[in-house]
Amino acid sequence: MIVLEFKARVKPAQATAIDEAIRTAQFVRNKSVRYWMDSQDVGKYDLSKLCKALAEEFPFAKKLNSMARQAAAERAWSSITRFYDNCKKGIKPVGYPKFKKHSRSVEYKTSGWKLLEPKRIKFTDGFGIGELRLIGSYDLARYDESLIKRVRLVRRADGYYVQFCVQVDVQIESMPTQKAVGIDLGLRYFIATSDGSVVESPQFYRQAEKQLNRANRRKSKRYRKKAKPQSKNYHKARNRYARTHLRVSRQRNEWAKRIADCVIQSNDLVAYEDLNVKGLVRNRHLAKSISDAGWSTFRCWLEYFGSKYTKVTIAVSPHYTSQDCSNCGKRVNKALSVRTHHCPHCGYEADRDVNAAINILRLGLTTVGHTGSYTLGEIRPLAGLE
Ligand SMILES: [Zn+2]
Repeated sequence: MIVLEFKARVKPAQATAIDEAIRTAQFVRNKSVRYWMDSQDVGKYDLSKLCKALAEEFPFAKKLNSMARQAAAERAWSSITRFYDNCKKGIKPVGYPKFKKHSRSVEYKTSGWKLLEPKRIKFTDGFGIGELRLIGSYDLARYDESLIKRVRLVRRADGYYVQFCVQVDVQIESMPTQKAVGIDLGLRYFIATSDGSVVESPQFYRQAEKQLNRANRRKSKRYRKKAKPQSKNYHKARNRYARTHLRVSRQRNEWAKRIADCVIQSNDLVAYEDLNVKGLVRNRHLAKSISDAGWSTFRCWLEYFGSKYTKVTIAVSPHYTSQDCSNCGKRVNKALSVRTHHCPHCGYEADRDVNAAINILRLGLTTVGHTGSYTLGEIRPLAGLE
């Protein structure tokens, strides 16, 4: 499955119509969550029946294409199942389903829209969105229309976007490199690898911080506590602030993509930590650095490129990877501030993150049962087990 995104050229009346569709999808989603909260033993099928009932009860809900209504209920269902899953696996925070207030998108399935030549799409449900011209360089005509399984309308600070989820598996045969690598996601570095190299953190957020703060101050200056609705200038300032954030997140995404591509291309097997980033970010001293590092984005790209180039990617449990000695396997406890690993048992010394990366690679190799088929290069077998 690949996602192709286009910017849409939207007239003011169309923007209103799209917003209305987004709000309606949010309404269906929230009603589904409410229904699940209020009744017992609600299943996916019950939610889809609820959709039908909602359309009969509320005229505006009927305007939304019936499959898009189903898609909205499915979104509710996926947040419910994620909650159950997290409870079962003991992942914290469990993520009890919440009501959405500021949805930004509406999802259509295979009906309610029609592709027109050249690069136009027409939405045909009750909101009267009409034709949108698509701006972007992807060639949609390459894919058969039946392969397009979802179409999403997304609102961002700088306009509206149309995403197409196309069901194709892009797989590229690549020459084996005979190399395996472990990756430690760090704070001081973005990543440290088991062969001893490090990639510095880009810190886009910190660089843009001045601009962001200025934009944020301007926004709060224009905020009027008692006046409702807010002034035009407030909305302008708010939009400028949001666009600055958007720029930072796009930079981060492009960067993570490049690094991930590079790592996958030069290795056959990549092992990395299965981090609970959400849990980590709650530590407020680290929060800014961690979010800035963009680990989860990086991980997504790693897995994507892994499947694209048919390479093995393994997430390993991160427990004690930074504490244990990668040379002799003994536990060497150290605080977060201690940057070098020095083993009192065998005298092995390495950068803290590189030591962790070697442990991660070893864990990865044992998980996948590949030990032996790889020449481990830098990786020495555990000293005690030789
Ligand atoms: Zn040691």
